[in-house]
Amino acid sequence: MVASQTIADKSKAEEPVDFDAIVIGAGVSGLYQLYRLRELGLTVRVFEDGSNVGGTWYWNRYPGARFDSESWTYGFSFSQELLDEWDWEEHFAGQPETERYLNHVADKFDLRRDIQFNSRVAAAHYREDTRSWDITLEDGRRYTSRFLVTAVGVLSAPTLPNIPGVESFKGPSFHTHYWPKEPVSFVGKRVAVIGTGATGIQTITEVAKTAGHLTVFQRTPQWAAPLHNAKITKEEMNSIRANYSEIFARCQETFGCFIHTADPRSALEVTEEERETFWEKLYGEPGFGIWMGNFRDIMVDRQANRLISDFVARKTRERVKDPIVAEKLIPKTYGFGTRRVPLESGYFEVYNQPNVKLVDLSETPIEHVTPEGIRTSDADYQFDVIIYATGFDAITGAFDRIDIRGVSGASLKDKWADGPVTLLGILVDGFPNFLMVMGPHAGLGNFPRAVEYTSDWVTALIRRARDNGLTCVDATPEAAKAWTDHVIETNEGLLFTEVDSWMTGINRNVEGKQVRRVMRYGGGHPAFRERCDAVSSGGYRELSMA
Ligand SMILES: Cc1cc2nc3c(=O)[nH]c(=O)nc-3n(C[C@H](O)[C@H](O)[C@H](O)COP(=O)(O)OP(=O)(O)OC[C@H]3O[C@@H](n4cnc5c(N)ncnc54)[C@H](O)[C@@H]3O)c2cc1C
Repeated sequence: MVASQTIADKSKAEEPVDFDAIVIGAGVSGLYQLYRLRELGLTVRVFEDGSNVGGTWYWNRYPGARFDSESWTYGFSFSQELLDEWDWEEHFAGQPETERYLNHVADKFDLRRDIQFNSRVAAAHYREDTRSWDITLEDGRRYTSRFLVTAVGVLSAPTLPNIPGVESFKGPSFHTHYWPKEPVSFVGKRVAVIGTGATGIQTITEVAKTAGHLTVFQRTPQWAAPLHNAKITKEEMNSIRANYSEIFARCQETFGCFIHTADPRSALEVTEEERETFWEKLYGEPGFGIWMGNFRDIMVDRQANRLISDFVARKTRERVKDPIVAEKLIPKTYGFGTRRVPLESGYFEVYNQPNVKLVDLSETPIEHVTPEGIRTSDADYQFDVIIYATGFDAITGAFDRIDIRGVSGASLKDKWADGPVTLLGILVDGFPNFLMVMGPHAGLGNFPRAVEYTSDWVTALIRRARDNGLTCVDATPEAAKAWTDHVIETNEGLLFTEVDSWMTGINRNVEGKQVRRVMRYGGGHPAFRERCDAVSSGGYRELSMA
């Protein structure tokens, strides 16, 4: 007993604790950042809360979890070998396929040896004397590094609804993010789904296929549109592979890094017939074309937005047999595309099934989760299973859950209490050597395209510091303020800023997240990259480096 304890203590003592860089998170961002930093010859350690790689695609195993990005635009573009050897099976891959892909990437580039799983970072404190970061894991283990790179995800801090009694339910209940690895059967069961965002819509569509009875609790209806997924044939995959460079080049040119480009016409300058024909075409095509490839003004002009909203409402009415249910499913308080558009595969038809009931929480709110089920203002429902598709404390949530402190012990959470302040969505003044991949103020969209660019920018900055013996890299407060003002400006006039959603920093289940804030860059990815390039090619004048 004593001998084995000594060996354990010794191996613990010999475990390296100081690194050139520490990365938090082993999703798309963390994996790629690790690959690039290792290329620089740095010692790197990635801390990941989960037991394997994949981030979003490791955690979200709920039924129906799937891309809205075309799979072949989502994969990494940095390795020709990887592009040559990986065949995507579906145009919009399901979670298992994407998880397999990210595991393949981790294996191929031997990334796991620098990743420490089941390791949740609880605190990160900057030390001015050593110009390095002290990292503390939830289990108390401590590490240090010159650079700290966060790859913590924008949708990785799940939230349960603020309803009394959630803990009291006697049956199994699941948050979609924390879905178990073992299959869950709904056959013959009375199932409740709370939440009808993008995740809820995917879950409901799948669970309705086997549940004995499904009750959907809807707080906010969504402007969902068809995904039109399909398998990829061998010939299609060959053609995709032959065209990868054009595909990625096109993604770089578009606002959201998807393959869909906005139509240069205004919705108001064409005839009603032209409009209808165009919208019928988009509604019948795969992916985000209806959102990202629509007339240029649907997201900025109220009349254009009302017309597309009317069109999508009509399509929904055609698909739902009961007109009362159809009206409940059509948003009335915000326009199409001003929240993240969920893409669906038969969602609206689910409500034509006899085993599915919609409960509109704007009419009859939930009062309590009970040991047997859910009590609304007008009924008591009994369930065998409850599924919470209640989303995330988005964008800043994963940061808020770590005690991050910069110069003089200043807390990042406090600094961002009235909204994030950043430089390029990558640096935060007063937090030296702290770099964010896909932090607040980054552009959202087709993630890996933005991740590759941002991680390369971060890597170039670290290389410059290393090559010039610089040990403290920080944004100047003036530059951070100027960038933050610019981000706010890029959001002006966009209709989505007038709507409560996770993209405007609202989460009614999280204290302090009831006021709209500018959370993301609104100028599109090409403009974002131009700004970042200007800072690096201009010699990083917006940073103080010593
Ligand atoms: C259901 C769903 C569907 C989506 N569909 C699309 C899509 O179609 N197209 C698209 O482009 N994007 C989509 N997204 C967005 C998706 O999050 C990104 O595409 C991408 O996976 C983000 O990668 P990431 O590495 O930045 O973050 P994540 O994949 O979220 O990974 C972050 C990792 O950091 C870890 N972590 C966080 N905090 C800590 C801590 N304190 N200590 C240790 N580890 C920590 C988490 O465990 C997680 O594994 C979707 C998201 C969800 C939730």
